[in-house]
Amino acid sequence: MNLGLKGRKAIVCASSKGLGKGCAAALAGEGVDLVISARGKEALEATAAELRGKYGVTVTPLVCDVTTPEGRAQLLAACPAPDILITNAGGPPPGDFHDWNREIWIKALDANMLTPIELIKATVDGMIGRRFGRIVNITSSAVKAPIDILGLSNGARSGLTGFVAGIARKTVKHNVTINNLLPGTIDTDRIKSNVEAMAKTWKVSFEEAMRRRLAALPAERLGTIEEFGAACAFLCASSSGYITGQNLLIDGGAYPGTF
Ligand code: NAP
Repeated sequence: MNLGLKGRKAIVCASSKGLGKGCAAALAGEGVDLVISARGKEALEATAAELRGKYGVTVTPLVCDVTTPEGRAQLLAACPAPDILITNAGGPPPGDFHDWNREIWIKALDANMLTPIELIKATVDGMIGRRFGRIVNITSSAVKAPIDILGLSNGARSGLTGFVAGIARKTVKHNVTINNLLPGTIDTDRIKSNVEAMAKTWKVSFEEAMRRRLAALPAERLGTIEEFGAACAFLCASSSGYITGQNLLIDGGAYPGTF
């Protein structure tokens, strides 16, 4: 399928590894020029070199923290008129809500709700003016089915989801769509560290904790960043202009609802 994206420009946030990298690679495979970002330089530059080498597109790596105004300004300066925006950042830590004070909550809201909203605000009017825009927010399956120990994520990402539900209906008439991708258990460093935490809680080995985790999934395996990236590229396709305000689970059927 030709997604009609060749020559388009994308900002892909938090993309040296994991889900962000999967999205960046899928877009690069469609001929999209990229600005990618992370806080760590080494992995980011390695990813930029890998994507340039594989796909022959322009990849600009920016070492910055996307959750800060300075980091976002750097991204927007490097790509002032993006056709595609993929928002992403590290997730908040697990824990017990009794321990979370205002400062901890504000940090989670900043990273996983207000950062994507600021980036949408900064890019959406230009997209409307150019009559093309695709915005995809990487959120979490926790938005559909809360995860016990991830209350900060459940809360912050639901706030973003509510905001997007409203704005996505206002932009679609200008061929600017805004959708959310909801990962369940995709094979990334983050998932491995979650399983390590489970192993500690259950007092079992990492392998045993992973076995239990997989046994609870209908797919009986983790998803791959390639599968995740392919869904992202589909939402960005030129032919996807009638899909907006959607929350697409990429969870191998883990969410048990009929709809
Ligand atoms: P990951 O494998 O740990 O990768 C995170 C990527 O984001 C890295 O490139 C990291 O690089 C970058 N990053 C993190 N914080 C950043 C920041 N403040 N500014 C710029 N770059 C930043 O994580 P992942 O599994 O891809 O997860 C991505 C997001 O999806 C997280 O919010 C996570 O909670 C959420 N999620 C993932 C899953 C899953 O199945 N994997 C499920 C539910 C939700 P640096 O550390 O060098 O900055």
